[in-house]
Amino acid sequence: MKALVLDSGKLYIRDKDVSTTVGDDDVEIKIHTVGICGSDIHYYQHGRIGPFIVKEPMILGHEASGTVTCIGKNVTHLAVGDRVCMEPGIPNLLSMQSKSGFYNLDPEVRFWATPPIDGCLRECVIHPAAFTFKLPDNLSFAEGAMVEPLAIGMQSVTKAQIKPGDIALVIGAGTIGVLTALAALAGGCAEVVICDVVDDKLSIAGQYPGIHPINSKKTNLLEFIQDFTNGVGVDILFECSGSAAVITDLTTYMASASTAVLVGMPLQPAPIDIVAAQAKEITFKTIFRYVNMYPRTIRLLASGKLDIRPLISAVYRFSEAIEAFDRAASGNPQDVKIMIEME
Ligand code: ZN
Repeated sequence: MKALVLDSGKLYIRDKDVSTTVGDDDVEIKIHTVGICGSDIHYYQHGRIGPFIVKEPMILGHEASGTVTCIGKNVTHLAVGDRVCMEPGIPNLLSMQSKSGFYNLDPEVRFWATPPIDGCLRECVIHPAAFTFKLPDNLSFAEGAMVEPLAIGMQSVTKAQIKPGDIALVIGAGTIGVLTALAALAGGCAEVVICDVVDDKLSIAGQYPGIHPINSKKTNLLEFIQDFTNGVGVDILFECSGSAAVITDLTTYMASASTAVLVGMPLQPAPIDIVAAQAKEITFKTIFRYVNMYPRTIRLLASGKLDIRPLISAVYRFSEAIEAFDRAASGNPQDVKIMIEME
């Protein structure tokens, strides 16, 4: 079928053979919209992320929505014609991790567009019904495709165990930073400060009431946080920049007995001042993708309490998919999420 294929560092719209057998517990989905993720761009530009190396031609894309076109005989919660979004990772449900409730950590997970697994930028996919979720009528296909990156923010916020009225600091105003800030507000934070060094990114985040954008090149972040919290520090810190230098002095912004969630992935090991953290009894948490976040993410979007529509910067047709990738790869700071619609 027609697909967007990454082959030896170049993108092609071409036919690729993929399995089309619908198993008893599977559904077939005609893909409608796919969001371009930082990881897709990384594979496009560098051919690898850590140990995951693109060695064979691979279809990109993992943030998708579409319409069910066929269901396996055991499937009861979905019907042909349903509009759905899909979790891109398929774990082995018999693994120790899956049985213990954290299927996101199953080392055998088959995740779309993580080599050697093909992604979803193609006409249709066969997917386990258990990882396929019906979209309410008031959510668009584009919002459905945004459930995937938003689920990372939801996982971060769930791990943070926010209390109503908490003040959070999000470091890094990229797509995941902004989505984490929105999830933190929806999760009960009274105020969220978000910092970055790029004004364009900050002004996108700053259009939401309750989010305070700070350019840490122009404003002393520590002084600002001290002022903003009456000298106490923030209750929750979300590190979404992946910058090792930032991680080293996280604790300076934080209140006693507060929680830091490490979301960004630094390229190098990042040193942390352990004693400074101990003196405040800071709790560090990490996240890896998400687990059981799709249903609650969809509910929250459908409730209207969280609106991601302003973050959809452009929608391209599938025939322009390579152009869409080149725009995403150019890193325009005014772009948050670029999407591709299959024709
Ligand atoms: Zn993604």
